[in-house]
Amino acid sequence: MPISDHFAGLVAERVAEARDRMHAAAQRGGHGQAVTLVAVTKTHGIEAVEAAYLAGVADVGENRVQEAEEKMRQAAERALPVRWHLIGHLQRNKARSAAQFGMVHGMDSERLAEALAVAASAADVVLDVLVQVNVSGESTKGGVVPGDVPSLARRLLELRSLRVVGAMTMAPFDAPEAVLRDVFRGARQGQEQLAQAGHPASYLSMGMSGDYEIAVEEGATHVRLGTVLFGSRT
Ligand SMILES: *Cc1c(COP(=O)(O)O)cnc(C)c1O
Repeated sequence: MPISDHFAGLVAERVAEARDRMHAAAQRGGHGQAVTLVAVTKTHGIEAVEAAYLAGVADVGENRVQEAEEKMRQAAERALPVRWHLIGHLQRNKARSAAQFGMVHGMDSERLAEALAVAASAADVVLDVLVQVNVSGESTKGGVVPGDVPSLARRLLELRSLRVVGAMTMAPFDAPEAVLRDVFRGARQGQEQLAQAGHPASYLSMGMSGDYEIAVEEGATHVRLGTVLFGSRT
C-alpha cells in the first residue's frame, strides 16, 4: 500500500526543518563538515522508511538486527535503495547479520570487532564500522572508555575486513549543555586518535533528537534522528 500524501508531506517538512537546523549549527560550529541525516525508523513501519526516502533521506538507522532485516526485505520490494545503519548495541552472536549493513555504529570491543571481521570476510565485504566511545561513563551505555581508544585502534589495524571510518557516541539524556559538549568533544578526540593511528576515520556519529544541534556544532558528521522526524515511539 502506498503511503498517504499527508504522512509523506509531514515527514518531508520535518526533514527540511532538521536539515535547516543542521546547516545553521554547522555554520555556528565552524568545523566545516558535511552532515548526513540518518533517519532512525526503529519501532516504525516501512512507511517511515519510504517517507524518509521520498524526502531525500538515503540513510536509515535501526537498532535491532531482526527488525532491520524485515524492513530491508520490505524496502527491496518497494524499491527503496537506502543505506542501512546499525546504530544500537550489537551482541557478538549477531555479528554475522551485521555484515549486510552499510555501517555499524556500535563497535565497542575487541572481541566484537573480531567477530565482525570474521563475518565481513565470510560475506566477502569490507564493513564500515564506527568505534563507540563511552565518554560519559554511564554504565547503561555501551562503548569503550576514552583511554582505551588508542590501544583498540592499534589492534583494529590488523582486521583488514573492517574499515574504521570514525567514532560514535551517545550523550546522557537531558544533560546540561556543558555536559553534552564535553561528551561530544570527547568523542571527537576519539575520532582523532583513530585517524592518528592510521584509520580512515573521518566520521563522527553523534546527536539525537534532543541534542543534535549541539552535536553538529561540535563536529558531528552523522546525526541519528527518530522522534523529530516520526514522532514519539510509544
Ligand atoms: C533510538 C536511537 C536514536 C534516535 O533517538 P531519537 O531521540 O528518537 O532521535 C539515535 N541513536 C540511537 C543509538 C538510538 O538507539
